Amino acid sequence: MASRHITAGLTEDHVALRNMVKDFVDQRVVPTASEREEKNEYPADLIPELAELGMFGITISDEFGGSDMDYVSYGLIFEELARGWMALASLVYTTSSGGYLINNFGTQEQKQRFLPDIVAGKRMSGIAITEPSTGSDVKKIKLTARREGENYILNGSKIFITHARHADPLVVLVKTDPTIEPAHRGGLSLMLVEQNTPGVRYGSDYDKLGHRGLELCEVIFEDAVVPRSNLLGSEEGKGFYQMMGALDRGRIYMAGASTGIARASLEHALSYAKQRETFGKAIGEHQAIQIKLADMATKVEAARLLYINAALKTDVDGRASAESGMAKIFATEISVEVAYDAMRILGGYGYIKEFPVERYLRDAQLMPIGEGTNEILRVVLAKQLLSESP
Ligand SMILES: Cc1cc2nc3c(=O)[nH]c(=O)nc-3n(C[C@H](O)[C@H](O)[C@H](O)COP(=O)(O)OP(=O)(O)OC[C@H]3O[C@@H](n4cnc5c(N)ncnc54)[C@H](O)[C@@H]3O)c2cc1C
Repeated sequence: MASRHITAGLTEDHVALRNMVKDFVDQRVVPTASEREEKNEYPADLIPELAELGMFGITISDEFGGSDMDYVSYGLIFEELARGWMALASLVYTTSSGGYLINNFGTQEQKQRFLPDIVAGKRMSGIAITEPSTGSDVKKIKLTARREGENYILNGSKIFITHARHADPLVVLVKTDPTIEPAHRGGLSLMLVEQNTPGVRYGSDYDKLGHRGLELCEVIFEDAVVPRSNLLGSEEGKGFYQMMGALDRGRIYMAGASTGIARASLEHALSYAKQRETFGKAIGEHQAIQIKLADMATKVEAARLLYINAALKTDVDGRASAESGMAKIFATEISVEVAYDAMRILGGYGYIKEFPVERYLRDAQLMPIGEGTNEILRVVLAKQLLSESP
């Protein structure tokens, strides 16, 4: 398996980066991931090591200490991190997404204030879009930000926010033009909400099926006072477009991470299939198991090729919405299938917590839902295909 997950055509830099992250994951993440996950333990001790590896600067320009990596590198990193522990991939993703938005749309003052600390792992970040009454239909958000002198006053709430209590800043989508109902795209803005902002409180953590180790909570804004200087980019009405700009990255992240979960499942199943014997031979010698393994490996390979294709196209053309959407849909769905097949190959051992396969299956379940559900992505993709069709 040593070279199986290196795709032909990657540069030496890509391979070196991927090997660096792989070594870190093998040594520092894999040995403790299941235990930390079971305890729902936030991996604070790994943050300095992730910062040292440059993981928080992958979306940030070198002017602020980052490396602003290409999308292929980005996908490879998340494949490796998620192979070890999905919560760690999510921690890096949420923080690097905040970094991406500030790096690409922030004012010079905002960049100087936040980006060096994000790169150094001194500030974490997160993205807050979803509200109790709306998730997929982003334009229907209700959280308002009303101008009052040099501040905005925020009222409303966000739910299902990953990494919310550690985020500093939390990048929050708000309605700056409440006269438009439902909010027109142009009525939305992004606010950089720092920790200890008066009027902001966090609900208790949701107990969730997977992605344990990273909090998921409600964030409530009651006359919360956010300085005007924390409006991302200083111009109102740009939030929807800024957020959409981050979406392709989000899809490549989901596709890369899902490939990582599927690969971890496959690798575990392969190793088990060589050791476990039934009816006088290793189960890997039974054709029923071999067919499963071959199908699993084919799906992992195809998922990786799809996200690398989307990443390469984005690196060349600046955007690849259709390809990123296809990669996200395929990789997230095969991660559930491959993890499930791994569980079947392990038999009863697949279902108990001594083995990580049940964790892979739980973590995989979120992937078709997050970062734009696969149903929505299919609708968007079909519309694009129809509009391009002669
Ligand atoms: C673990 C976890 C972490 C999360 N982290 C974050 C985060 O950090 N920040 C954040 O802002 N949000 C986060 N979310 C929220 C997540 O992004 C939303 O749950 C997701 O976008 C779906 O929104 P919803 O739950 O409101 O579902 P809805 O939008 O209500 O959709 C319900 C169902 O209807 C389908 N559907 C809706 N509209 C259509 C349509 N037009 N055509 C076909 N089908 C449709 C959907 O696909 C889905 O199956 C997280 C959620 C979870 C569970």
